[in-house]
Amino acid sequence: MMRTGRHLSIRNGYAAAAKTAKDSGMGAFQYFPKNPRSLTVKSFDRRDAAKCADLCREHGIATIAHTPYPTNLAADGEGARERVVQSLLNDLDIAEHCGSIGVVVHFGIYKGAEILRGYQSIIQSLNEVTANWSGEAKLLIEIQSGEHAFMGTTFEELAQIRNLCNEPAKLAFCLDTCHMFASGMWKGAGDEAWLETAEKQGILNAVAAVHFNDSLYPGGSRRDRHAPVGQGYIGLEAMRWIMSLEGLRAVPFILETPPDEDGRYEKQLNLMREWGIHL
Ligand SMILES: [Zn+2]
Repeated sequence: MMRTGRHLSIRNGYAAAAKTAKDSGMGAFQYFPKNPRSLTVKSFDRRDAAKCADLCREHGIATIAHTPYPTNLAADGEGARERVVQSLLNDLDIAEHCGSIGVVVHFGIYKGAEILRGYQSIIQSLNEVTANWSGEAKLLIEIQSGEHAFMGTTFEELAQIRNLCNEPAKLAFCLDTCHMFASGMWKGAGDEAWLETAEKQGILNAVAAVHFNDSLYPGGSRRDRHAPVGQGYIGLEAMRWIMSLEGLRAVPFILETPPDEDGRYEKQLNLMREWGIHL
């Protein structure tokens, strides 16, 4: 059976989020390790994190953390990279204590004219993090939608950035169905060209999590707006197709979507559960 779930709040702590996941029968969840709007390093409650890890281990729940929004791997301004690196090390530390697979970080946004400097910055930031990190939790580089810049929207870029880093084993990938659809790189159900590229670039072996979001806008629109599963332009058939891929069956699928009409997530979670059983 596949492990599925959704993004949960840590308003009441890490262990409380794990309990929510357990009580609603989720096999996985995502959380923000700290305030999602700031890179400020958080001194966290290690006992609470350990309780989260215990609960998840006991109930077979897989977890991933998500970096705060201002985290930009391509940042290269004065002190900017240092802030990002310190924040990422803090996120990894929290994720490690919570027993998580890793920390999702967006590929990076670079708006300068010399785009290669953007990639160079990303590699340097990743190297600085991995050089100072010896835990089990990995950095999970997430594919982007192309909304802010077209960087990080292809499997070639994911594979190359990882290959060019000093310690690729400390890096893995996070796919996002909405981002892949919005950028136009994934066309939906039965997209064999997409699957072929994924295999050729060795992506599937290195995917550690999937963000399972439908899209409010049509394919190729470069707009990153998530819709409830089955209520967007990706649609049920394509969402189910991607979940059924053999190469992704071991990784958690996690919703980052708006709730159903009733303000809850049961419909979407049940759909995923159902699909995860009958592949
Ligand atoms: Zn995502």
